[in-house]
Amino acid sequence: MNIGRFLAGLVLVLCSTPLLAGAQEKPDLSQSQMPSVVTVPPEALPSDHFDVEAATSAYLAQIPLSARARSDAYFEGGYWLILWDFLMAAVIYWVILHFGWSAKMRDFAQRLSRFAFVQDLIYWVQFLLLITVLGAPLNIYEGYVREHKYGLATQTFGPWMGDQLKALLVNMILGGILVAVLFWIVRKLPGTWHVWGAVVTIAFSVFAVMIAPVFIFPLFNKITRLDDPEVTRPILSLARANGIPAHDVYQIDASRQTTRMSANVSGFGKTMRITMNDNLLRRGSPEEIKSVMGHEMGHYVLNHIYKDILFIIIVLVVFFALLRWGLDWSLARWGQAWGIRGIGDAAALPLVFFIATLLGFLFTPIQNTQTRTSEHEADMYGLNASRQPDGFAQAAIHLGEYRKMSPGPVEEWIFFDHPSGRHRIHDAMQWKAENLALFSSQTGH
Ligand SMILES: [Zn+2]
Repeated sequence: MNIGRFLAGLVLVLCSTPLLAGAQEKPDLSQSQMPSVVTVPPEALPSDHFDVEAATSAYLAQIPLSARARSDAYFEGGYWLILWDFLMAAVIYWVILHFGWSAKMRDFAQRLSRFAFVQDLIYWVQFLLLITVLGAPLNIYEGYVREHKYGLATQTFGPWMGDQLKALLVNMILGGILVAVLFWIVRKLPGTWHVWGAVVTIAFSVFAVMIAPVFIFPLFNKITRLDDPEVTRPILSLARANGIPAHDVYQIDASRQTTRMSANVSGFGKTMRITMNDNLLRRGSPEEIKSVMGHEMGHYVLNHIYKDILFIIIVLVVFFALLRWGLDWSLARWGQAWGIRGIGDAAALPLVFFIATLLGFLFTPIQNTQTRTSEHEADMYGLNASRQPDGFAQAAIHLGEYRKMSPGPVEEWIFFDHPSGRHRIHDAMQWKAENLALFSSQTGH
């Protein structure tokens, strides 16, 4: 839940100008970045005694110790942030309820309009602004200060804040519509609202996934058709060979915000597309790009977007059932003290968010495992499609700039939404071992 990340305090924009000069100093990354060019180590060259473990270790050994320490520290810090984000959100929602701020915001909305739907929208705007301001210190640290400290961010404070404001506005509009429709359902269908609420939220989520590549992503980044035939020709050839009816590859200027390399499949139905970010285009070798595109095509061919939607449907149905039970239980206890007049009262929204945040926190390992399982499928598909195990090993090392390379098994299960770098290199070397004949001409140069 990154709602709290938005706005991040207009006040802070006004009083932070002297900070900007400091923020513009580029941290020295020469000692800590992953190697840009990863050569195939001798242990990973084809031979009669090719050993998967030795080849994996040889790839991992190319990572400088300082780069590994930095990546481990960044990623492990993220474990704690999951906890701090949860605790901070819980305290904020509790404060808003306990001190009667929620009831006051509802009363204010009722003074401005006679219509319940409009009152809910007005409540939503106040609530969103309030949690954004209260959550600003942690969100600025997490989204700006920390990203700069680890050399992953490219934006100065002004443009970063601009992005936060845009996200806040999107949230205000889309979130407002969803919240007002849901409260309308609760009041009209008090006995079965959790069922219809789930149905409406599912439809709304599918709609949001569908419009995002066309209407939301372009608010933050420039997305263009890639027209360098050197790059697109092998990708489109790979697409045809895998039965994907693609005519274009898209690129996104992610370097506006971050140094991370990535690519993705987004959209739904007619808006579905494969997009590469410019960091990957700039730093990736042709073999690496091909291996990453093979992975993305795996998502497409294996229908991961549709499977994700099915997963979200199940999760939302369970969530709404638990939400109904949680709201009934807590409103019976504290509803009166907080000035909430029932489930159909918008003043109950902080409680809804509290329950959602708690469930989301407990759900983290399951969500990560669902995503990581799809990612592993796409990895294997990509290796078979692209036949670039060394390109994929190189990509795994580059992605290690923001993801710990060698976690323990339990750690990977709980915290990783993609296979770890070590896991991916091992899969690539296993695949290479099974297909050594393809690499008979490979040399160490
Ligand atoms: Zn993926």
